[in-house]
Amino acid sequence: MIATAPFAKRLLQWYGDHGRKDLPWQGTQNPYKIWVSEIMLQQTQVATVSPYYERFILAFPDVRDLAAAPVDDVLHLWTGLGYYARGRNLHAAAKLIVNEHQGQYPATLEGWCALPGVGRSTAGAILAIAHGQRQPILDGNVKRVLARYFAIDGWPGDKAVESRLWQHAETLTPHLRVQDYTQAIMDLGAMVCRRRQPLCNRCPQRLHCAALLGDSVHAYPSPKPHKKRPIRSVAMLLLFDSKQQVLLARRPPSGLWGGLWSLPECDLGEDIDHWCQSRLGLKVEVNPPWPSFRHSFSHFHLDVTPIPTHVKNANAVMEKHETVWYNVKRPDRRGLPAPVKRILEQLRTTP
Ligand code: SF4
Repeated sequence: MIATAPFAKRLLQWYGDHGRKDLPWQGTQNPYKIWVSEIMLQQTQVATVSPYYERFILAFPDVRDLAAAPVDDVLHLWTGLGYYARGRNLHAAAKLIVNEHQGQYPATLEGWCALPGVGRSTAGAILAIAHGQRQPILDGNVKRVLARYFAIDGWPGDKAVESRLWQHAETLTPHLRVQDYTQAIMDLGAMVCRRRQPLCNRCPQRLHCAALLGDSVHAYPSPKPHKKRPIRSVAMLLLFDSKQQVLLARRPPSGLWGGLWSLPECDLGEDIDHWCQSRLGLKVEVNPPWPSFRHSFSHFHLDVTPIPTHVKNANAVMEKHETVWYNVKRPDRRGLPAPVKRILEQLRTTP
């Protein structure tokens, strides 16, 4: 039998005393639940994910329920969690599992990685936790721990740096207790080796950590090379009919907010009258804009200016697959981008 290396031994001991053991997705080896949690945890913290995860599992208790659900129901439950491609991919992958794999989950790294939205680290985590397979993981938390522990220079998003980190992750992963180890290394990154203010004095690796020994913890991991985020501006049109319902249009399935229901958008400075007439066939009376607000994405800032208008010929828009008159006082189930949700919420709470 291969002995467990000291790094893993120390980590497992720490996990026994301090690790998180009551997260909603723990205590199960059900691949579906572990998969859903791992997808939600990509780019999102545990505290944010927990209520979303619980609502999601209640609505779709297994992969067949998810595969059978309309994508709108899935995106509705994803509203506010961000990175909506994750929800769409989860839904598409559930359909593949049910329709093409007879409801059977993949048993290999390659099999999981072939599903939409599943990368190597997510696949490794599912196989390690659900099946006890010895698979390394390398999510954002683990990258930070290893970059510091080995004092690895360079931004972890860089391919060469990432490949070095994978090699270390592979070597450190033990042959025994791989489920606990996988949870433990994620916990260490989230609870102790935190991005800001790491708690090195509570870390089981402190006597061996190269960054701490070199008094350079804050130098690792190297930050992403700085690139200023551009600012885009957009007008979001609140088109009201005579019943104070608002026109929503479904966005194309891929791209920003793909498949979500949004307010019609045009450039700021556009002649709104003319735009509505030519694009939507609507005659409108334009009211003063609401104050602008900023919504930030990882790659750009979006400055949104809501512009209310009253539609004089609402019948000209037939409700069809891509548009709907939405009653903010009686909202139905559909996925909404966060800024649209914010505007509709403001509308709902305005007397
Ligand atoms: S000693 Fe500090 S920097 Fe090193 S792994 Fe532990 S928490 Fe991270």
